[in-house]
Amino acid sequence: MRVSPLDWLDGELADLSDRCLLRQQAVREGPQRPAQITLDGRNLVNFGSNDYLGLAADELNEAVRESLGRAGWGSGASPLVTGRGSVHARLEEELAVFEGTEAALLFPSGFAANLATIPALADRSDVIFSDARNHASIIDGCRLSGATIVVYPHGDTTALRDLLTDAGGYRRRLLVTDTLFSMDGDLAPLPDLAELAEHHRAMLMVDEAHATGVFGEQGRGVCEHLGVEAGVHVRVGTLSKALGSIGGFVAGQRRLIDWLANRARAYVFSTATPETAAAAARRALQIVQQQPERRQRLLELAADLRSRLREQGWATGKSASQIVPVILGEARRTMEMTAELRCHGLLVPGIRPPSVPPDQSLLRISLCHGHTDEHVQRLLDALVASR
Ligand SMILES: *Cc1c(COP(=O)(O)O)cnc(C)c1O
Repeated sequence: MRVSPLDWLDGELADLSDRCLLRQQAVREGPQRPAQITLDGRNLVNFGSNDYLGLAADELNEAVRESLGRAGWGSGASPLVTGRGSVHARLEEELAVFEGTEAALLFPSGFAANLATIPALADRSDVIFSDARNHASIIDGCRLSGATIVVYPHGDTTALRDLLTDAGGYRRRLLVTDTLFSMDGDLAPLPDLAELAEHHRAMLMVDEAHATGVFGEQGRGVCEHLGVEAGVHVRVGTLSKALGSIGGFVAGQRRLIDWLANRARAYVFSTATPETAAAAARRALQIVQQQPERRQRLLELAADLRSRLREQGWATGKSASQIVPVILGEARRTMEMTAELRCHGLLVPGIRPPSVPPDQSLLRISLCHGHTDEHVQRLLDALVASR
């Protein structure tokens, strides 16, 4: 038998499978809507999407068609060469106005925004303080930077205070956190973090990926909701979740954006997203501003779901948002529940390591505008039946 240098993969994949950690890729037919998704030929109510405002499938199509006719599809090159079109430029201006910052910069994705921004702000001479539950793109950005990384216990500002106090010798300090944690649905203690950042002269970088369009009176996110925007130096967001399009962005001072356009490698060395994606995001941003009732209804539905799950005795952790975990612990049990719920016609993703720590596997219920009280009732009934 021929040996290949890739033979080790068989063992690794078998090991993942034995531990119930092997991920299988489903195929979706047609668009995903909150009320319905067709996965591997089955129609399911969709509790798995980050399309929180229900914009991705239908609401942006007209803007897309109109833009496509004028701009064509591909961008051809990096934004610094030929890739940055007038629609990109308009969206950057509008994002800055929306965020109340001097400027904004578009990235190919939210992942790329974090991966590129962190190493542009900190290097070997510096130290980064990162929440233990931060998103993979933040973790990878920290590693890539070469800075000393101090991971503080999730949301623990007392521990962070001590760690900051012990780290006086570095050139620069960067404190980075998700604002709304993507698996647990809980909020970062931003007022305390902003105060600590100020006291220790640290740059404060926040990732609003799941909160843009959902939290805050104007829909700017958790920083707006908690009144800490003035204390935040670097705001990362995505166009790919509540805004229903694709791409990431950073908003902040003009000099920050100028620096990133020069030094953020995933900006400089990656092709710009299609202008049509920016056109879709512009339309989504309008909807966020014109239809606050979408986020209000969503958060009401989420509060109702959380309290009813707790009444049924499920562990929902510290969720305070449209992301509601049902924490089950074991990966195997979690995947069995996911399969059971699927038999009830419901898509509720099971989340396992490495997305969550070992023994904290969970069902991640993601509510969207477009879910009805009946959908929520079906979910609650199915959970009880699968218990
Ligand atoms: C999804 C996510 C990202 C990545 O955004 P994409 O636009 O999907 O690449 C970044 N940060 C957090 C916290 C996320 O949940």
